[in-house]
Amino acid sequence: MPVTSPVAPAAAPPAPGRPDALPQDFAALLREDPEIAGVLLAERDRQAGALQLIAAENFASPAVLAALGSPLVNKYAEGYPGARHHGGCEYADAAERVAVRRATALFGADHANVQPHSGSSAVLAAYAALLRPGDTVLAMGLPYGGHLTHGSPGNFSGRWFDFAGYGVDPETGLVDYARLRALARARRPKAIVCGSISYPRHLDYALFREIADEVGAYLIADAAHPMGLVAGGAAPNPVPYADVVCATTHKVLRGPRGGMILCGAELAGRIDRAVFPFTQGGAQMHTVAAKAVAFGEAATPAYTRYAHRVVAHARVLAAGLEAEGFAVATGGTDTHIVVADPAPLGVDGRTARERLAAAGVVLDTCALPHGEARGVRLGTAAVTTQGMDEGDMARIAALFGAAVRRSGDAEAIAAEVRELVARHPPYPG
Ligand SMILES: *Cc1c(COP(=O)(O)O)cnc(C)c1O
Repeated sequence: MPVTSPVAPAAAPPAPGRPDALPQDFAALLREDPEIAGVLLAERDRQAGALQLIAAENFASPAVLAALGSPLVNKYAEGYPGARHHGGCEYADAAERVAVRRATALFGADHANVQPHSGSSAVLAAYAALLRPGDTVLAMGLPYGGHLTHGSPGNFSGRWFDFAGYGVDPETGLVDYARLRALARARRPKAIVCGSISYPRHLDYALFREIADEVGAYLIADAAHPMGLVAGGAAPNPVPYADVVCATTHKVLRGPRGGMILCGAELAGRIDRAVFPFTQGGAQMHTVAAKAVAFGEAATPAYTRYAHRVVAHARVLAAGLEAEGFAVATGGTDTHIVVADPAPLGVDGRTARERLAAAGVVLDTCALPHGEARGVRLGTAAVTTQGMDEGDMARIAALFGAAVRRSGDAEAIAAEVRELVARHPPYPG
């Protein structure tokens, strides 16, 4: 079995007894559209056949996948429960009310908007609710893990707002709160955004709140990455501190691709109007239903154990990579994210990623706290969903060392990766 399937082969029916990520009526798709069915089967095999360490990815449950493929995909439901622009919304309303009730309970928020189509859409709506074009905003600088929506020149945020970036201490890799405070005093921003795509440590939300209050700024937490840990009690909750919390429902949270916004009662109306009708049209009600399923799953003791295992696994992986000679940013992790610089092994992040890809390991490169070179960013959400354990994490770290250093037989390393993932199918039959 190849580690990565190249181009989709002609459609083959799912082999009996094989783990299947496609629980809906896939037979209809095979019959009606073998070309795209073949692509989806190849993607299923790609996911199951390699080690998935992209920090933003996970395996949604069969129940989430089933909700996504449900009849709500057909329903138009502009507006909010009880106030729709279309008829026939009684079950769309029911799904959204369940999603909102579960989200507010899970995160302890007064209000939840579960309609944003993505994390970026959630951030767009949060800005639309609180800011005017031209306003000054402070966010983590893009070289330190700020998201595109935190002022990238290629993104609406960089064009419509005046972003100033704060950073991390180049030595420790930790947010430099003293410089953040000084920057806030100098720039008097309308909002401060906290959140990142690669920061492996907890943020000090209370200190962010204090600094925002000092300068009269809103605090927007863009917590797409840690929110799944928050749901399982494995990371601090930004909800009590931030005016608005934006998040994705995928990533660690393991729901469908999508976004959500949490806020206090006083901002609820502004946030809702900023999502619909200001930045979005009809909500994707099948996704809203799938979000409800994911929130329900995240409220279980099994999920709490999962979230804590995700963090424990990342710590084992970080320690293992350090032992293999990688320089681990911030010296470790509090979350599912590990950022590692392979420079001590004589290569940069891009080369490391290529060598790992050849071994069947899928991950990202990312900016490093210091300097120009790129490192690698990995996360343990997906492999933990697959049921891997701490021993597996230690083996993965050793495989990283061998693959990146090119010590040992490349085919033997790839075979070991294949054997590891074969023992942990993401969708056991
Ligand atoms: C993932 C992420 C987003 C964007 O989510 P999309 O669904 O890809 O639009 C925004 N902000 C942060 C901090 C993220 O990690």
